[in-house]
Amino acid sequence: MVSLSGMQFFDVVVIGAGHAGCEAALASARMGCRTLLLTMNLDAIGQMSCNPAVGGTAKGHLVREIDALGGEMGRNTDGAAIQFKTLNASRGPAVRASRAQCDRARYRGAMKRTIECQPNLEVRQGQAARFVLDAGRVAGVEDQIGVRSWARAVVVTTGTFLRGLIHVGLARHSAGRAGEFASVDLSNAGGSSLARRRACDARRSTTRGSRSSAAMPSRGRFTGRPLGSSSNKFRVT
Ligand SMILES: Cc1cc2nc3c(=O)[nH]c(=O)nc-3n(C[C@H](O)[C@H](O)[C@H](O)COP(=O)(O)OP(=O)(O)OC[C@H]3O[C@@H](n4cnc5c(N)ncnc54)[C@H](O)[C@@H]3O)c2cc1C
Repeated sequence: MVSLSGMQFFDVVVIGAGHAGCEAALASARMGCRTLLLTMNLDAIGQMSCNPAVGGTAKGHLVREIDALGGEMGRNTDGAAIQFKTLNASRGPAVRASRAQCDRARYRGAMKRTIECQPNLEVRQGQAARFVLDAGRVAGVEDQIGVRSWARAVVVTTGTFLRGLIHVGLARHSAGRAGEFASVDLSNAGGSSLARRRACDARRSTTRGSRSSAAMPSRGRFTGRPLGSSSNKFRVT
């Protein structure tokens, strides 16, 4: 919604379209909230890291929990994977884990398509530079060129970008990921501790309540169920 003065109002603004931001924005939009996903580069939505693997002993469990909550990461991995492996297969069940090696471009393209086709979800390229405060509460976000988006809630999923540094031997330079800018303004906006706390809250709420309902997928697959059959566990409160 745009007011006469050009201000835009949303229920939720999500900063950053990495793994966490994509899930947060989709969950919010699917709950019926008018959502803005603000990210630095529209072509890097769902960008995977240098080794495009999803899974492992920690992340594999997380992906299944996201899947049980109706998220996209597992489904997208099923569609983009080129190799599935069960790690520690010769050891006890407690240390076994699924890991899928993905086609990086395919994963990114499929996630971008899902995001762009999602009703209630607007995607915009820009770098969030400041939080807009109203009576001491975060009431929105301002990007680097001064465009303000007001929201009832702001979710910060900026990954490793806040004042990011890359070290190569003894040399180091500012970067979010290799080839991408660091997010310096948002770090300097006095929002870095707030940003970290909110990112933690967002991650916690994405996984909360999922343990008892996380179905074990068939061996070597993250979802083991047809598209569109996600459990409907999110509620607007
Ligand atoms: C060097 C390195 C290697 C890694 N290797 C692996 C690996 O091999 N396998 C693996 O599974 N994991 C790996 N990881 C971890 C993996 O990259 C992270 O767990 C995952 O990407 C985190 O997802 P995220 O959504 O939190 O953040 P990210 O994927 O980092 O996404 C952050 C998003 O926020 C956006 N953003 C940042 N600041 C702003 C701003 N101010 N305004 C708007 N948008 C903003 C960025 O553009 C980006 O889209 C690696 C991490 C690093 C640093």
